Amino acid sequence: MLSLEFLVFEVTRLCNEFCKMCMRGDAQDVNITEEIVNHVLLGNDINDIDTIMLTGGEPTLNEKIICYIIELVIKHNIPVERFYMVTNAKKFPGDILEAFSDYQKYCDSIGRKGKIDIDFSVDEFHENHFDIMREYESKYPNFNYNSKKLKFIWKTGRAEYGDEFIYEIIPMYVKNVMGRIWLMNPLYITANGNYETKGDGMYKDMDKLNMGSVFDKSMLDLLEEHGEYRDGNKEDLKRLINIARKYQMREK
Ligand code: SF4
Repeated sequence: MLSLEFLVFEVTRLCNEFCKMCMRGDAQDVNITEEIVNHVLLGNDINDIDTIMLTGGEPTLNEKIICYIIELVIKHNIPVERFYMVTNAKKFPGDILEAFSDYQKYCDSIGRKGKIDIDFSVDEFHENHFDIMREYESKYPNFNYNSKKLKFIWKTGRAEYGDEFIYEIIPMYVKNVMGRIWLMNPLYITANGNYETKGDGMYKDMDKLNMGSVFDKSMLDLLEEHGEYRDGNKEDLKRLINIARKYQMREK
């Protein structure tokens, strides 16, 4: 009963670079767990997901969990149209790329899009690893690659200058698509298992202010607290959520 436009997993807070403008602040030895991923993907009666984004830190430093997420999506036939990852390309993540490739083959076999988009961080603050980028492209030509240049810098974390940044929880914008709840803006899952809306800013801020833990709240709970309904008022949204809850109970 729930469709997600953009689900983001912060798979690790580790990083193998030390960029001067990093909005995260210092890296942390924190990795998302299988339990967190299971709670999110299997505990919310998700109908379909347009994009799963894998981020960090540097996501390629947690290859194991990314492979696990992809396997879980295949095993439970969760309709995901696209996987998207941004990397500094310092490391060639063979296992992740093989798993992406398996996902594409699986999608081909059932007639789903199965897009893989990989962006390389290419700007004056990151080391450039063109040899590794070429390796990606030559070994996996079916994925889409882009160079991600910095459009702006948030003045937070390690950045000493840039645009003023206010860390906050923004509303979760919701639409009704043929009786299904469609969450229009990104839902971000931190490496320590909290729900967050923006995905930008310091780990420190995310840990202080978030929407709660995936172990304590379902996505429907979040919508009840933070949802803003584009097709009606709060009461209409409540009714839609109640229908979704009843449906979930029946499925169990
Ligand atoms: S900007 Fe990205 S690559 Fe650079 S230190 Fe921060 S997380 Fe690491």
